[in-house]
Amino acid sequence: MNDTPRTLPLVLEQPRGRAKPPRHLADLAPEERKEAAEKLGLPAFRLKQVANHYFARLERDPEAMSDLPAAIRAELAEGMLPTLLTPVRVMEADKGTTRKTLWRLFDNALVESVLMRYSDRATLCVSSQAGCGMACPFCATGQGGLQRNMSTGEIVDQVVDGARAMRDGLVAGGPGRLSNIVFMGMGEPMANYKAVIGAVRRMVTPAPDGLGMSARNITVSTVGLVPRIKQLATEGIPVTLAVSLHAPDDELRDTLVPINTRYKVDEVVDAAWEYARTTKRRVSIEYAMMRDINDQAWRADLLADVLQKRGDWSWVHVNLIPLNEIPDSQFTRSRDEDMDEFVRRLERRGISTTIRDTRGDEIDAACGQLAASEV
Ligand code: SAH
Repeated sequence: MNDTPRTLPLVLEQPRGRAKPPRHLADLAPEERKEAAEKLGLPAFRLKQVANHYFARLERDPEAMSDLPAAIRAELAEGMLPTLLTPVRVMEADKGTTRKTLWRLFDNALVESVLMRYSDRATLCVSSQAGCGMACPFCATGQGGLQRNMSTGEIVDQVVDGARAMRDGLVAGGPGRLSNIVFMGMGEPMANYKAVIGAVRRMVTPAPDGLGMSARNITVSTVGLVPRIKQLATEGIPVTLAVSLHAPDDELRDTLVPINTRYKVDEVVDAAWEYARTTKRRVSIEYAMMRDINDQAWRADLLADVLQKRGDWSWVHVNLIPLNEIPDSQFTRSRDEDMDEFVRRLERRGISTTIRDTRGDEIDAACGQLAASEV
């Protein structure tokens, strides 16, 4: 894909193999299953049964798939439901309502996902790449460079695991339902467009062919790869778009979000506005509050100007994220009074604004802290 940005050097202890993750049922659109069944020498309805186990029943143990002939269970499971994610470590915070899982992929690459339960919903933050090539200097993931794109199956399997954890009551509060997905874990989802859109399709397709989730409860967060934002608007899947702006002026944004040297603030905001107009979905603007870097009152005013350029502001919502500090970083969290003033200024201009609550920072599970190390 020609959106691949400059990448930092790869972390050398990480694998660099070119082998692809094993193909999984979740990689296939329903219409692609027939051919897969033929290759396995099985009638197509067998894959329908497997899909029912995986997407509708969240089942992974072949022995529990009692509607399949015992003789073919293991073979089918191996062929269609290979292990994609192996848990290395699970950590809990916020009285058990936040749960971070470190996963090992087939080639030893490491990624993380974070499940967060709130009073009215449960949200899973998923990774779309092992590492990230965007090199934002305030983000832990950005410091290690990109290792590789994840496959559709690897992305979906995080969601299936999260749904299972909710169903089985592994998160404080008793059994529940996974309702929301945010692509705010490791990676830049729009730099792995094809796999991400495939994963979104599996999530929104009704059971048993998919997970039957609501598109509006799925948020795709991006640094602002303009061509991909435009493409996403044409898919006919009204997911929520979040744009990581972090600065209203190119001079600062060039340093905080390096891809800004390619796609400028105005271009990114235009694409976001267009997305809102096409999909009728309000766009979120993410803005990590960094002390004395981007949190000045005048920058709040400038942000309002940039977002209201078209004389309309009902299309946008600003989400301020108190910076989660990462080791060896020059960036620190804004003072409370500066955040409050920032909010006041945006609200005075009629822009709906919230300060995101910080979940899981003590287990390095908060925004920007996912570094997927084993120590
Ligand atoms: N690549 C996507 C997803 C990244 S994570 C994107 O950039 O949008 C989701 C959000 O967390 C992004 O807005 C990202 O900029 C933000 N983030 C990264 N590091 C952070 C940190 N240290 N503190 C707070 N937010 C951070």
